[in-house]
Amino acid sequence: MNNFSFQNPTRLIFGDGMIASLSKEIPAGKKIMVTFGGGSVKKNGVYDQVIKALEGRIVTEFWGIEANPTIETLRKAIALGKEKQIDFLLAVGGGSVLDGTKLISSGLLYDGDAWDLVKKGYYPESVPMGTVLTLPATGSEMNSGAVISRIETHEKYPFYSNYPVFSILDPKVTFTLPDFQIACGIADTFVHVMEQYMTSPGQSRLMDRWAESILASLIEIAPKIKENKTNYDLMADFMLCATMALNGFISMGVNNDWATHMIGHELTALHGLTHGATLVIVLPGTLRVLATKKQDKLLQYGERIWGITSGTTEERVALAIKKTEDFFRSLGLHTRLSEENIGDATIDEITRRFTERNVAFGEDRDVTAQVAREILISCK
Ligand code: NAP
Ligand code: FE
Repeated sequence: MNNFSFQNPTRLIFGDGMIASLSKEIPAGKKIMVTFGGGSVKKNGVYDQVIKALEGRIVTEFWGIEANPTIETLRKAIALGKEKQIDFLLAVGGGSVLDGTKLISSGLLYDGDAWDLVKKGYYPESVPMGTVLTLPATGSEMNSGAVISRIETHEKYPFYSNYPVFSILDPKVTFTLPDFQIACGIADTFVHVMEQYMTSPGQSRLMDRWAESILASLIEIAPKIKENKTNYDLMADFMLCATMALNGFISMGVNNDWATHMIGHELTALHGLTHGATLVIVLPGTLRVLATKKQDKLLQYGERIWGITSGTTEERVALAIKKTEDFFRSLGLHTRLSEENIGDATIDEITRRFTERNVAFGEDRDVTAQVAREILISCK
């Protein structure tokens, strides 16, 4: 097991009707900016619940943080926040609104252009923020990460600041999610676990079992959610799976990979593909190309998650990867680049970008531009 230091300061407030408790989580006298996406919260009553809970407080609203939040939009929020001397942020929406608000929270305490912070990758100064999550997927409600895009240059990069002070998760607010967003949320959660689990074997039995418990839960609930997406207990489990997948709990003392995410970000940056939809294409390719290196963990995963106990080593590894791709397809998602009409030109462009940036992804930093190219070719 690697050495580690662990602290997750976010207070998780979970359950039906919990949005009503919002006001007491925000210190008195704060000038609050509430941030939103494109309007789903107006249709499903979340906006009304939030505004009611904030009655009597000083509130500024900022609307329009889009899926894959852009620096172009966030600059406007930062300017408004500075003008109103905002000292508390409340993000209400999916991962994009939460991520965007993390950059706003740092941007409010930075004099230059907030894109500098994204390029730096980390900026610890931030105005405190809370969240009301409406889409289980990213874990952004209980981690310090964000992913920010720039339309002008078709770029998308991770950025780290601070953890939300609190996050309110009411599974009922997910009942209005479109099927595609649910599928992408399950996929993102699954791949978050895989990025931390599918690394060198034998680092921690406990982390392995925790990771496997999230994978097994997702596989169990996914078909049931397809049948009934307004079942409270199913959506509650989905929501908690997504949070637990990326709040540091399954990452203690073990290597992380993240090559799949880094390649997926380029597909979003270049083609606007939804985040989860990129991951289900890239992960099977990553596993195929790195099958020898990851063989022992793939055997463990195949046996414990998919019940694969017979066949040669190669057959069992291949079947574990196929089962993963089949699971993604069962969600109703495409798992090949060709199904998204993405061809060689994009593979060339991503290789060019990664070569220029001299990237080295993966747990051992050996997923170079050329390896990423092989992965993409295997996803055709
Ligand atoms: P999202 O981009 O926040 O939301 C997708 C769509 O779902 C939006 O159009 C939104 O509509 C709608 N929506 C949200 N909640 C809804 C509800 N309850 N009912 C109906 N529609 C709803 O999706 P996401 O998957 O949560 O976030 C994706 C972003 O997070 C990507 O940029 C990805 O790279 C990033 N990400 C971050 C992390 C991290 O650790 N921070 C990890 C993985 C991925 P409205 O805009 O109208 O609300
Ligand atoms: Fe993700």
